Amino acid sequence: MCGAIYRFKRFGRGEGIVKFFVGGLHGEECEQTRPILERLARECAASHLSFFGDAVILPCLVERGQHVSVLREEYYRMEAGRRLLSLVRFLHPRFYFEIHSYGMHSLSRLTSAKRFEIEGVPPFVELERGILIGSISPILRKEFRRDAFCLTVEIPKWRGVKERVLAILRACLAAESRDALLKALRRMYPEQMRKAEELFRMFYTEIEPF
Ligand SMILES: [Zn+2]
Repeated sequence: MCGAIYRFKRFGRGEGIVKFFVGGLHGEECEQTRPILERLARECAASHLSFFGDAVILPCLVERGQHVSVLREEYYRMEAGRRLLSLVRFLHPRFYFEIHSYGMHSLSRLTSAKRFEIEGVPPFVELERGILIGSISPILRKEFRRDAFCLTVEIPKWRGVKERVLAILRACLAAESRDALLKALRRMYPEQMRKAEELFRMFYTEIEPF
């Protein structure tokens, strides 16, 4: 149903701290997520990249999957969702990055201030060129420790943003702590991160962004 999963182990500092990157959660999302995450895995393999922790990269969770939202319980009963849950339960990631892609027609829905009312979750914030970030599904968030760092990244289908997304994901791989990662993202996108963190805090009162 899906492609390869890559695991790069670190020995010494960062050993055992898992950073899990997963793409292509439903529909045709693998078309966008696979090339980006395959490239990230190649960079890890070639050690071009300095990374902290054990990197686990799954470029495509499901090929041409049914499009059921990850906000719905139903998703986690389907094959793709069950696989995702079992990987999260097995890996216990301290950092989790869920990479989706979306069509132009979904941009207003994903970033709408009304997303709280309509879908029960905060809107995404645009970092640049249609690249959006936000919290992960509250259903899945329960599987993680409170101090885990869990981020959704949405990639536009209509625009070439591969290099920019890779720059963000490389920062995620390099960071040695959740604070270091937040600082790196704030350096790259100060205003956008301020907004994203504020929205997160309005929704989750017991955990820190993200
Ligand atoms: Zn999606």
